[in-house]
Amino acid sequence: MTEIIDGNAVAQDIRDELTDSIETLADDGARPGLATVLMGDDPASQTYVNMKQRDCEEVGIESHHVDVDGDAPPQVLFDTIADLNDDPEIHGYIVQAPVPDHVDYRDVIRRVDPTKDVDGFHPENVGRLVAGDARFRPCTPHGVQKLLESIDVDTEGKDVTIVGRSDIVGKPLANLLLQKADDGNATVTVCHSRTNDLGAKTRNADIVVAAVGVPELVDGSMLTAGTVVIDVGVNRVDADTDKGYELVGDVEFESAKEKASAITPVPGGVGPMTRAMLLYNTVKAASMQEDVAVDL
Ligand code: NDP
Repeated sequence: MTEIIDGNAVAQDIRDELTDSIETLADDGARPGLATVLMGDDPASQTYVNMKQRDCEEVGIESHHVDVDGDAPPQVLFDTIADLNDDPEIHGYIVQAPVPDHVDYRDVIRRVDPTKDVDGFHPENVGRLVAGDARFRPCTPHGVQKLLESIDVDTEGKDVTIVGRSDIVGKPLANLLLQKADDGNATVTVCHSRTNDLGAKTRNADIVVAAVGVPELVDGSMLTAGTVVIDVGVNRVDADTDKGYELVGDVEFESAKEKASAITPVPGGVGPMTRAMLLYNTVKAASMQEDVAVDL
């Protein structure tokens, strides 16, 4: 019987645990504050930002939001970042991607105070993660680790194939699973668009993580019976629904479910975990900046 991993339930457990830590911080006069910055008016980004604000309210994190005109020169965004770096009420913030084409996202990330970089994208934080001394684990990879933990999958000695080598999912997840640590110690294969015979790599894995952005790329024929399948992908495909589309993952759920021992659905798998781990990083940032110890 295949286990369908309920990301909403695991994320709720994490939010419940965080609520206690947030109360501890607030008792010390240190309520965590998270800011979101949105440059432009991309509707999907707007939705993500709204969801993050709702999550903050639920757990007791002060949420702040800054809109930056999509046509403004980059310096306007950089000034916003400088203000947030200086604001003691903001313990962490994110600049929602994508930013408009005339702004270099890497230039944005480099300006974020690394101690407030709750996305974990600043080069200093990337370096620390690779060195096995992560300050903030990037939210999606950390969420994937928590999902594996939730179903008691021990990654030690396992063959993990990650499809996708992006800076926000594939690479940091590969680094985390490779660490000499209780939630690492895996043997990791990272695939990408130039990989030869992708199916051979996924069939050889105990755990497959798909983070590609190609609808239903990984199907049951590419899996060995008993594989744990984590689908990070979120893709809009045309469908006969009220909205005119539906969301599908990078895994063809029905055929993969026939082979997998456990699998995440889309939606309701990794997505809620990414949001929960952003709250986690915000609490961690507040704890470090305010020098108040909390259980994390
Ligand atoms: P990117 O576009 O940054 O990276 C995609 C990766 O997939 C690249 O490494 C690319 O290879 C590889 N790839 C593309 N096509 C193929 C192929 N045919 N075979 C093998 N590899 C391929 O994507 P992201 O990592 O940002 O996102 C991936 C997916 O995850 C998207 O659907 C995104 O929406 C979703 N996502 C979901 C999140 C969540 O919270 N649920 C959070 C973040 C992302 P190459 O490097 O060679 O180009």
